[in-house]
Amino acid sequence: MIIADFHLHSRFARACSRNTTFPLLEKYARIKGVNILGTGDLQHPLWNKEIKSELKEDDNGILWTKNKFPFIWQTEISLMYSQDKRRAIHHVIFSPNGDVSDQIVEALSNKGRLDYDGRPIFGMASPELVEIMKEISDKIEIIPAHCMTPWFGLYGSKSGFDSLKECFQDKVNKIYAIETGMSADPPMLWRLKEEVNLVSFSDAHSYWPWRIGREATVFDCELTYDNIIKAIRTGEGLSSTIETVPDYGKYHYDGHRNCGVSLSPKESKKNNNLCPKCKKPLTLGVEYRIEELAKAEEYKPKNAKKFYRLIPLHELIAVFYGIKQLSSKKVWDIYNKLINSFNDEFNIMLKISYEDLCKVIDDKLAHLIIRNREDKLTVKPGYDGVYGEVVLEEKKQKNLGEF
Ligand SMILES: [Zn+2]
Ligand SMILES: [Zn+2]
Ligand SMILES: [Zn+2]
Repeated sequence: MIIADFHLHSRFARACSRNTTFPLLEKYARIKGVNILGTGDLQHPLWNKEIKSELKEDDNGILWTKNKFPFIWQTEISLMYSQDKRRAIHHVIFSPNGDVSDQIVEALSNKGRLDYDGRPIFGMASPELVEIMKEISDKIEIIPAHCMTPWFGLYGSKSGFDSLKECFQDKVNKIYAIETGMSADPPMLWRLKEEVNLVSFSDAHSYWPWRIGREATVFDCELTYDNIIKAIRTGEGLSSTIETVPDYGKYHYDGHRNCGVSLSPKESKKNNNLCPKCKKPLTLGVEYRIEELAKAEEYKPKNAKKFYRLIPLHELIAVFYGIKQLSSKKVWDIYNKLINSFNDEFNIMLKISYEDLCKVIDDKLAHLIIRNREDKLTVKPGYDGVYGEVVLEEKKQKNLGEF
């Protein structure tokens, strides 16, 4: 079993400079329980140099650190163009090896600058991107990123499309998977009845390397680039995805962040999609958009994969102790205590028994971890860029430990 996170960014993304390095990415991946990472930002001149000096590539397209932690070549780019209206779509790209990566860099540099942001913007349309990449190598994978987010998702309410076909046109058969993103989960996306597999990754920015793996994809195959691509394209060897609870995502409900207004799709419709406070159009979230695009009330494709819904451990600890700052010392102290006892976060979240957890942490926090595993947490939905919040219910707290 390989837990993979193939959507990352380097410290050069969004002009943010910190000292994050490959050893640090490796360290946090191991703590999280992630077994392989994407390099992120492969076309960024400085990061590209670092990939080549820090990692050693084998014949299977896997890049290794000194301590034998694996990566694959990966980036994400932003396309802004007009097709009927203004479009802004992010695509994650995987590359099979350094040679092909060099050609990708070359091709992208003919289309725009690569040095100002780890996730550069280009004016070309999505079908053109596919054409250019496939001319270099059919092994390059293009995956629409966080496909439901309002501004940069393929299906986004602001600048997205209504279907893969509308976006990719005659190149649609080259798209094999879409990234679910934090505000959507597989049952929501199945309803669109698109013929693609679903993958899930964190989109972590390396100045917060501990956010690695908050979403991830689980593969069941020998570790080679070709096997991973085969799994993504055919579903064979793609065993499950790890999702957050979609309500936790920043764009689940509709609303206005600045007005403090959050509405369910039903409430938005009642208000003609206008904010009751400022009367301007609401930022419509993922749930609204799914209702708009769904081809069925409920639908589960034959090749549907298993999925987990988990709120990350940092969030649980912070919520439990009523701490706002996820990276506060207290949160890290408890977190590290758990990691020291049980190895990594996914092990804690998915496997360790209640009794064993209680030996290390407060019984009630252990209970919260088990509730999370059983997908029974109550989450107040996120909206317009505001994360959802785990709600600790008094009632539930009184019944602690009775499962
Ligand atoms: Zn993105
Ligand atoms: Zn990203
Ligand atoms: Zn408003």
